[in-house]
Amino acid sequence: MTQFKDKAESIKDELIAHRRWAHMHPEPGFKEFETSKYIKEQLSKLGLEYREVAGTGIVCDIKGHEDGRTLLIRADIDALPLQEDNDVPYKSLNDGMMHACGHDTHIACLLGTAKLLSGLQESFKGTARLVFQPAEEGPGGATPMVKDGAIGDPENPDIDAAIALHVTAGEDMLVNTIGIKDGPLTAGADEIYVDVIGKGGHGSAPHEAIDPVYVAAQIITQVQGYLSRFVNTFDPVVMTFGKVVGGDRQNIISERVRMEGTLRTFSRDLRKRMYEELPKLFSDIAKTYGAEAKTEIITGYGVGINDPELNKLLREVFKENYGEKGIMEQEYPTMGAEDFFEFGLDGKIPTMMFWLGGGNKEKGMLAPNHSNYFDIDEDCLPMGTALLTGTAVKYLS
Ligand SMILES: [Zn+2]
Ligand SMILES: [Zn+2]
Repeated sequence: MTQFKDKAESIKDELIAHRRWAHMHPEPGFKEFETSKYIKEQLSKLGLEYREVAGTGIVCDIKGHEDGRTLLIRADIDALPLQEDNDVPYKSLNDGMMHACGHDTHIACLLGTAKLLSGLQESFKGTARLVFQPAEEGPGGATPMVKDGAIGDPENPDIDAAIALHVTAGEDMLVNTIGIKDGPLTAGADEIYVDVIGKGGHGSAPHEAIDPVYVAAQIITQVQGYLSRFVNTFDPVVMTFGKVVGGDRQNIISERVRMEGTLRTFSRDLRKRMYEELPKLFSDIAKTYGAEAKTEIITGYGVGINDPELNKLLREVFKENYGEKGIMEQEYPTMGAEDFFEFGLDGKIPTMMFWLGGGNKEKGMLAPNHSNYFDIDEDCLPMGTALLTGTAVKYLS
């Protein structure tokens, strides 16, 4: 029973054409005007209706032969501000922009899924809701789409589950394989801004000033010890200060230092705890040295958790279509973040994302996502399409 594989292989040329069009026309988040227009044209060609949500976002419902559950299937459509250095016929036409995270692949697979599902309406009940989402790379398009009605009233959402894929081309994720992980997959990611305020003075007389550079150094160092001593080692957390700005000159003690950091967590409880404890920790450290630390935390993407039941359906579809080999069960989640999981309303709705292998050693396609040399083996396009389509039909039957 390889019906989804065969159907997807039969439209491979179209999938490649979609992917290449998108690859050549990369656009930044919420400015995916041409991309959005292209997708709408393709949906119209299939006779499908759609609505525009959160600007460049698109929602397209495909209904089965009778009423039933609703499954959201999502593709993100934005690109990255990066100059492509691949010398390929489908190289980016937009200078300084590149589909370096493979969202062009996601667009192609979801358009392929639209085509296959619209010919399979007799095989499923309920609704497949295709969601083309802007701005995954920032500032995030899933939450604006939720707020703008992509899943009905968020208090009483009109979807039952949500799935997505993400292509990756590293050495451990080659074409013809997929990565599956039950439970936590991606981290919650928050931005942390700390202003350390001291008292300016002469560099030769620190005792007459309050040195915010020294205090900032204490905060940077002590936070790592705090996390290691006060957080369960089996509850992962990463806190990195990626930017520290302060000072005027070698012999001046300046008044303030500004630090910018990222906080990554996997459990919703720990995340909440950190929101309370880190500002207090920074403030207490600063007070010890007579300074003040003001912390602002901006909540980013939520923790991404994969539902084992949805993964089970995906494994079945894979095995029915591609056999026993090719499923890589992932041991570890990633500390990276993904806003797809925002459609799950912080755990209210079951969600599932899998990694689609796009790497190929022989073809020299091993550069990681976000690299200026990122490229995928287009042989992965039918598999991505078949797995999204097959999982949808299984879930909705
Ligand atoms: Zn990315
Ligand atoms: Zn991505």
